[in-house]
Parts: sequence; structure tokens; C-alpha cells
Amino acid sequence: MHPFILERPRDINAAVALGAQSGRNDAPVEYIAGGTDMVQLLQENVRRPDRLVSLAGLLDNRIEAGPQGLRLGAAATMAEVAAHPGVIEHFPVVSESLLNSASPQVRNQATMGGNLLQRTRCPYFRDVGYAACNKRAPDSGCAAMDGENRWHAVLGTSENCIAVHPSDLAVALVALDASIEIQDAGGEHSVPLADLHRLPGNTPHIETILQAGEVITAITVPASPAARRSHYLKVRDRASFEFAVVSAAVVLDMDGDRIRQARIALGGVAPKPWRVPDVEAALAGVSLDPAELRPAAARVAEGAQGRGHNDFKIELMQRAIVLAVETAGARA
Ligand code: SF4
Repeated sequence: MHPFILERPRDINAAVALGAQSGRNDAPVEYIAGGTDMVQLLQENVRRPDRLVSLAGLLDNRIEAGPQGLRLGAAATMAEVAAHPGVIEHFPVVSESLLNSASPQVRNQATMGGNLLQRTRCPYFRDVGYAACNKRAPDSGCAAMDGENRWHAVLGTSENCIAVHPSDLAVALVALDASIEIQDAGGEHSVPLADLHRLPGNTPHIETILQAGEVITAITVPASPAARRSHYLKVRDRASFEFAVVSAAVVLDMDGDRIRQARIALGGVAPKPWRVPDVEAALAGVSLDPAELRPAAARVAEGAQGRGHNDFKIELMQRAIVLAVETAGARA
């Protein structure tokens, strides 16, 4: 492990000032909150900060959930949010995404902010024994492109990186049109969560829009009566402690037995939580009959590209959409 200095700032303003001394992403100064992903990356020598700035005790951990909307302090743990009665009743897609993530031990420790910022599970990124990884070492190549790419993306990729974003929570929140609150030296501002993660393009090592010294302090979702009829479907290789092969978060607004509006985000198929506006538009006005849902779901395949081992995801994500819509629609 690369040696580092652990900084324990007295408040969030001091933490922001320390972080502002860094560059972006894999920079000499990094933040740590719950640490469930960071510690693993430090141990594996994937991240090599000179200074680690602890956010422990500095961030809000309150949870507010009800008809008025959702607000999650960045330090709330996955377990606390998943078990919150207001989240379960009014935003079941959020609770389900969390309960389908990681293990009970990790959920007790991992925070909301850290969950959104966890790094990809691409095995070539996580193993420094592989030299070719543009995300870990810019301009070094991409071992996954012609390697073992069963877990990799079929949407939103570039010739430089085909890694997928790993957070289940982020997929659910993007379907809910969530925003994040960010603190920097100038104060707080809010941005749509859908804008937080970047596509790889020519710079896959820059994964988010966060600048040096910016800290996520909260997640917010506006009042959303339709969110009571929501569902998170996760397809994975084993029943627990496993990342998504494909996942679908669905929020449905129904008009009798027909869909008035669907909001859908996919996980496991793209470098960021992936909204599917063409599918959403095609679902407007259709019933929950699978025969009507399938042609709408098929729109997601337009522009999708497999790399061999992951070709099956193009069919699987269509099936996941259909099943997730059926399940959400069956909720009262
Ligand atoms: Fe690295 Fe991305 Fe290629 Fe994986 S897919 S090896 S993270 S460049």
C-alpha cells in the first residue's frame, strides 16, 4: 500500500479546503467516508493518495422521506436508508436497490455519498498486474476490449473504455430524477444526479463532474406520488453480495390500466446510470400486457454494441425492462 497521511479536519469547510489542494479523481488528495470501496482500492494499490481526508463526523446523516419528497444526508448508511419506513413506503425503488447491494456488513458502513462515487468493478482496473487500463493509467490501452468482457457495457462506451458503473442506488435515484447537493469553497449548489457521472470518451480516468475540493453533502428527490409504484430489478450471477449483470429501475405513473408515464434507468450496461427516453416514450399509453411492453422495451437495443462475451446483455436488458415494468405496475 502506498503510504499516506490521514487528515481529520474539524469541519466540512476545512475538508473542502484540503481537498481543493488536489487534482481530479486519482489525485494526491482523496476523501474517505465509510471507506468500504476506498480501503479495498488502497489495499490493491489502485489508488495511491498522498493524503486521505476523512469526512467521518462532518456530514449530515439525516433521512427525510414522505409525500413531500426525499432527502438523504450524504453520511446516511445504506442500511439506515433501506430500513427507513418513509423510504420503503414512498420510494420502494430506493430501498430495493440498497437491499440488493453488497452485504449486511457493508450496508452498515457504506454511505450515500460514497455509494455514488464507488469505482468500477472492471477486473482489469482493480488488478494492477494488468498494465493496459486507460481508466487507471491514461493512454495505456484497454485490456477488456478484446479480453474477458462479460460484465462490461453495451451502451455509452468509447474505444478507450467499456467499464460499467457499479452503483445500484444511483440507478434507482436517476429514475427518480434525483439531484445532489455539492459543497465547495463558494458554498453549496445542486446538480441533477444524471449529470454527475461522465461518459468515458477520451478521458475515462475522469469519471465525474466533481472538481477538486467538492463534496457531495445530500441527495434530494422532489415530491413524486408515482414513486410509490416503483421497482428495482437486479439480475446477477449469485443471490447476494454481487454486482448487477443488468438492472432496471422503474417508476410508473398509471392512468387506469395504462401507463401514463414511465421513468426507467438501467444499470450494469453503461458507464453511468442509463436513462432510456425512447423506451419511456414508447411505453406511454400502453397496458401492462407483455405483448405491448416488449416492442417498447426493444427500443433500448438501438445503438447498443456488444464486445463478444457481453452480447447477451442486449437481449437481457429488454427482458429486464418488461419484467420490472410488470412488477411496478402490479403495485397498488
Ligand atoms: Fe480499464 Fe475501462 Fe478497459 Fe476496464 S474497460 S480495462 S476500466 S479502460
